[in-house]
Amino acid sequence: MVWPIDRHRDEAICAAYRDGMTTRRAIAERFDVSRRVINKVLKRNKVFKHPGELRFWRKVGIRTKQECWPWKASKSRLGYGQIGWQGRVTEAHRVAFELTHGEIPAGAWLVHSCKSPDCCNPKHIISRTKEDSIRDDRQNRVLYARAWRANNKRERCYQQARRRARKWRATPSWADLGVIKKIYESCPSGHHVDHIVPLRTLRGNKLVACGLHCEANLQYLTATENVRKRCSLPDDLAFP
Ligand SMILES: [Zn+2]
Repeated sequence: MVWPIDRHRDEAICAAYRDGMTTRRAIAERFDVSRRVINKVLKRNKVFKHPGELRFWRKVGIRTKQECWPWKASKSRLGYGQIGWQGRVTEAHRVAFELTHGEIPAGAWLVHSCKSPDCCNPKHIISRTKEDSIRDDRQNRVLYARAWRANNKRERCYQQARRRARKWRATPSWADLGVIKKIYESCPSGHHVDHIVPLRTLRGNKLVACGLHCEANLQYLTATENVRKRCSLPDDLAFP
């Protein structure tokens, strides 16, 4: 004979377990059933997987599935949650990952998709290879810069105006604006138009060189080269 499952009793038992009645014996006494039944109920409702699991989840501010679940107990200096786990101090998000997804693959990096280090929502913790996560970081930097520009329009306008003014001041009367325009328009993709002698080279706070905004002072550089060059003078012009 199969006994019908008493949902109300199941829920009450799970609730008691979650509320901090950690020992099965205590719950069994309260509901007047055997410990085996309690084990079955907890298993059926997926409340129990690991002996320390309850202790772990009690330290997590569990919210909805999409939200971040902040760690409520001790944190490392970098903001990651810490817990004593199987005899040593472990990062909380690693434990959260292990408890929900199983063992962490060897050589994998655990990454927070939500960017908050103390988050223990298993849905926000992804395991990536080292190469993947470095590439992601690079993409994230691009996204971050884009977001910054969108959220700081005034500051961005101000920067652009200053840059325009600097360009305008550096343009001599004899410069051929048509040619300059053409140089900018025909810039190959992935390249930047660069001033060979920068419009403004600072050494400390001192202005040491001002290049001209004219066709002879323009060149194409790949984006990486240009970012690396920044505002430094070309080697043959550099002076001590
Ligand atoms: Zn999160």
